[in-house]
Amino acid sequence: MQQILNYINGSFQAANSGEYLDNYNPATGEVYSLIPDSDATDVELAVKAAKAAFPSWSALTREERSEHMLNVSKRITERLDELAEAESTDNGKPVWLAKRVDIPRASDNFKFFATAILHDSSELHDTDGKFLNYTLRQPIGVAGCISPWNLPLYLFTWKIAPALVSGNTVVAKPSEITPMTAFLLSQICDEVGFPKGVLNIVHGLGGKVGSAITEHVDVPIISFTGGTETGKTIARIAAPMFKKLSLELGGKNPNIIFDDCDLENALKTSLNSSFANQGQICLCGSRIYVQKGIYNEFKTRFVELVKEMKVGDPKSADVKLGAVVSKAHFDKILSYVELAKQEGGTVLCGGKEAKTDLGGWFIEPTVIEGLDEQCRTNQEEIFGPVVTIQSFETEEEVLAYANGTKYGLASTVWTSDLTKAHRVAAQLHTGIVWVNCWLIRDLRTPFGGVKQSGVGREGGWEALRFFTEPKNVCIPLH
Ligand code: NAD
Repeated sequence: MQQILNYINGSFQAANSGEYLDNYNPATGEVYSLIPDSDATDVELAVKAAKAAFPSWSALTREERSEHMLNVSKRITERLDELAEAESTDNGKPVWLAKRVDIPRASDNFKFFATAILHDSSELHDTDGKFLNYTLRQPIGVAGCISPWNLPLYLFTWKIAPALVSGNTVVAKPSEITPMTAFLLSQICDEVGFPKGVLNIVHGLGGKVGSAITEHVDVPIISFTGGTETGKTIARIAAPMFKKLSLELGGKNPNIIFDDCDLENALKTSLNSSFANQGQICLCGSRIYVQKGIYNEFKTRFVELVKEMKVGDPKSADVKLGAVVSKAHFDKILSYVELAKQEGGTVLCGGKEAKTDLGGWFIEPTVIEGLDEQCRTNQEEIFGPVVTIQSFETEEEVLAYANGTKYGLASTVWTSDLTKAHRVAAQLHTGIVWVNCWLIRDLRTPFGGVKQSGVGREGGWEALRFFTEPKNVCIPLH
């Protein structure tokens, strides 16, 4: 059985404890690899290595650091098939999806920040012709990067690439549920000759490894993506140390469909925005609101299309949904379907395990109608292939529904009225609004949420700003 290893100070090593955790293939329900059960002592070694590597790494020119990033990007692309297979085995997602989206995006993350850093420039102000003010953007030190299981390599690299290219060194922890592609990434970084200690990857549980990174006095900056409750814990620990924090957290995203929309496009895209990656994307629209004039037609056609979505072997080219990530998550999702029924909802399709002969954790795509806005099913993040659907009459009414949760990550609006699109987009309390499209991700744009969906932004200049500290220098001109 394959054993994953930590990557610390340029060497591959087991956890100090010598213990391993089981790593499951969600499609078969079987353990297929082992990951180091690391603890604070392993994190200590990683932070020490990262701290020692910081002076020389941060002293490289941006062109030199950019070159390292481009080498990683290239190797990821060369190993596309292998990485896509590994991501699918680890996470349960269809191989075609990993090949089309996750792995190319991981490569693009390195390429994008390698290029962006070359175009970053300092602010400069002439003060009354007498003084010159300029702002240096300096790397901070050892950055802690902690990521979730839903888009494993995609989100891991979305943090590591801007952190490194800005001149920081990194101690990173992938999710213990999907560690494999982070392990393969450590091999890639080693192959392309990353200097020792620049990138350190420590595997293991959140409560041991993640909290040790968060608590460490020599890690002044943390970039975290994951659940809102974990984000709160990290914020509580980091606050007294005044750590710089970026928290990308949960969502309960509204998908608003006005009756003047392009119905075909709204239907087709809503299938994807509801169920892509088994509904396990923080940006999936999990609450569908359809205006009264087209509600019945949309609902009937949507449910027909959902019933046609094939669930099954992630290796098959024609499956739309693979397995959900773990047995615990499978149970959680189905418990929400039961809750929805108790709360008065009607299951229009799905709502149960999808039967396969593979042995893993598959759930039918599920649509639920007839729920109150304030019920738990409509307020809490399920993070699986389950959406609720409900009609509305006025713009004011749907805005109240859309904004009526503690989350504020993303929203989608479907309308042919441009003025309405602008008006509604401006009033939605979310960090991202898509109009007549979904999941178009330009890496230059700010990415993140408001309310309990997080603090700070990733992407483009926002990420480079986050991973650097501005220092203003003022000097007389004469
Ligand atoms: P999670 O919060 O359970 O875990 C995320 C990471 O944090 C994992 O690596 C985990 O080991 C680690 N962790 C757990 N406890 C920790 C602690 N006490 N201290 C430090 N680290 C700890 O989240 P998850 O279940 O892996 O991911 C699903 C969640 O992520 C969903 O809520 C989803 O919406 C969210 N998510 C958000 C975004 C976004 O960009 N906003 C993107 C993807 C996923």
